Amino acid sequence: MPVGTPLPSLPSPRWLWLLPRLSFVFFIAAVSLLLWLYNRSEAENQRMTLISDMLWLEQDLQFQLTHNAELLGQFSPRQVSDRNSFAAAARSVLDGGLRRVRWLDRTGQLRLAYPEADTTVTPDAYLRLAHTRGKAIYGAAYENTGWWVDVYVPVFHRGGFSGTLVASYSLQQLLEKSLPWWLVERYRIVIVNAGGRELAARSQVAAPNEESSYQMAFDPPGSGLYLRATPYRSPLPPVGPLLSAALVLLALTVLWSLWALRRQERQRLAAEHALRQEHAFRKAMEDSVQTGLRARDLEGRITYVNPAFCRMVGWSEAELVGQAPPMPYWMDEDLEATRALHDRILAGEGPTQGFEIRFKRRSGEAFTALIHEAPLIDANGRHVGWMSSIIDVSEQKKAEELARQQQERLQTTARLVTMGEMASSLAHELNQPLAAIASYNTGCLNLIASGEGDLKEIGAVLAKSAEQAQRAGRIIRRIYEFVRRAEPKAEPLDLEVLLGEVLGFVEADARSRGIRIERRIAGDLPVLTGDRVLLSQALLNLIRNGMDAMRDQPGPRRILHVEAAAEDSGIHLRIADQGTGIRPETAGQLFEPLFTTKPEGMGMGLNICRSVVEGHQGRLWHEPNPGGGSIFHVTLPVAVA
Ligand code: ADP
Repeated sequence: MPVGTPLPSLPSPRWLWLLPRLSFVFFIAAVSLLLWLYNRSEAENQRMTLISDMLWLEQDLQFQLTHNAELLGQFSPRQVSDRNSFAAAARSVLDGGLRRVRWLDRTGQLRLAYPEADTTVTPDAYLRLAHTRGKAIYGAAYENTGWWVDVYVPVFHRGGFSGTLVASYSLQQLLEKSLPWWLVERYRIVIVNAGGRELAARSQVAAPNEESSYQMAFDPPGSGLYLRATPYRSPLPPVGPLLSAALVLLALTVLWSLWALRRQERQRLAAEHALRQEHAFRKAMEDSVQTGLRARDLEGRITYVNPAFCRMVGWSEAELVGQAPPMPYWMDEDLEATRALHDRILAGEGPTQGFEIRFKRRSGEAFTALIHEAPLIDANGRHVGWMSSIIDVSEQKKAEELARQQQERLQTTARLVTMGEMASSLAHELNQPLAAIASYNTGCLNLIASGEGDLKEIGAVLAKSAEQAQRAGRIIRRIYEFVRRAEPKAEPLDLEVLLGEVLGFVEADARSRGIRIERRIAGDLPVLTGDRVLLSQALLNLIRNGMDAMRDQPGPRRILHVEAAAEDSGIHLRIADQGTGIRPETAGQLFEPLFTTKPEGMGMGLNICRSVVEGHQGRLWHEPNPGGGSIFHVTLPVAVA
């Protein structure tokens, strides 16, 4: 994504999160319902199986009991006649739960018993009932080292009642011997009485689930006995629990993954927020940067421009991005040269330093751009294009040009001013030797005209005249030397010497104006580096201004102090006059070009002075002189950068 494009805002994730949560709840509810239905049908199946098993068991037991009763009913008189026959017959029927057999005659007297030790009292009521009914009846359960039930079987021979066979079933034995293994494995089977008391049990292990037990009347033993079976556990594989466990596991996994997802989402959101902040910061930076930025791909197509570049050229980002050469901001007349440069940059042979080029704005106005090109390397270290920083230097160029022109103008003006000053100086300086030459000439002429003068005398006067002519020549040469050079030059300068030269120029003028110049050099002055002519000109101007300021002062006050002292790493000059002083309202304009209060003044002097001093990295300022007048300060450093 280009950096300038705002990050798209993501939809709120709240409702997105609601969907998986709702689905999860529905899923758990649906699976729970299915499980519940499955468990219910499973329980019903088990119950049906239990009931059919119990029916089968009850039938089986009934069959055994009925069979035993029939066998007992078939005992012959011989078999109940003596002990041995009875024992043999009894043994043949003793089976399963049937443990004891007794033979009671028609009067109810115990005649025979097997095993013989059996002395159980037989209630008459059952005997009579069996006799009356003529078929086997069962007595109530009783306890006698375990619980027992007796069966009373009336025996008839040739139509006559001969006695009753009483066989005792041990309920415990009945259960132990008669139940098939598969039933025992599946259920805990017990015999209970009407009061719910457990009389015999097939297993001592308590069944886990009493509620799922099934109970049915144990008939014909009757007398309130019941068979009760309690399933141990499902014989089928535990699909339900397994499914439940799987469901719980699944639910936990889904919960965990939801939690992990949420955490991940939070981290992602935090990272996204940080990224957004970073992006916004970068965007703000790019929008506020004043340097134009432009990215191009390897084919030279523009892939990115920042607002500063758009402002610079006048085309919008949408118009520029995707543009291939020639670019709209290329100068029509430089098209070929610009394309050649463009191709060189793409080939990696462009200028390594910044280079200047002329571009045009949308308005058609040309401007100079300073461009730095650098390869654009992506996050994977691949070279994907070129990045350029573009600075509009046309204003700077204009300012430089203006400064150059100003400097040139200043120099010309300065030269003119100096020459003007020189001219007046020249007039003063030459006045004296010329007057002397003229008077020597007049003397000579007078000597010749009178005829009194000899040649020797005339020669001496002419020699003096020649000396004055030479002096005039020296003055002219010195002034010529002073103004000869135009270019500022950096050369070692002894300020004391320089000051001497300058004061030499103004000496005559000062004398004629009755001004005393007090020169004071404090200590050894360091050697400066600078332009002798320009600095002389500046000092000359300051001295002349001081002299001008004292024009209307009475004679004794016309003293100009010129002091120089070594200070810090340079020289401090003070030019103090006792003149009119500078009024506060004019102080601000003093250094402006053309400002003057003098009828003959040009108003360029101080302006040039400041340029010269600052050009030498120095400072020029003024302050009121405590004794009246002004003090102009000049500082000049030794080392000029
Ligand atoms: P000019 O001397 O041609 O007038 P300058 O730039 O040298 O131009 O000076 C500008 C003005 O500053 C002068 O006209 C004068 O009014 C004021 N000035 C300069 N030096 C002094 C001084 N030492 N004392 C008082 N006024 C001064």
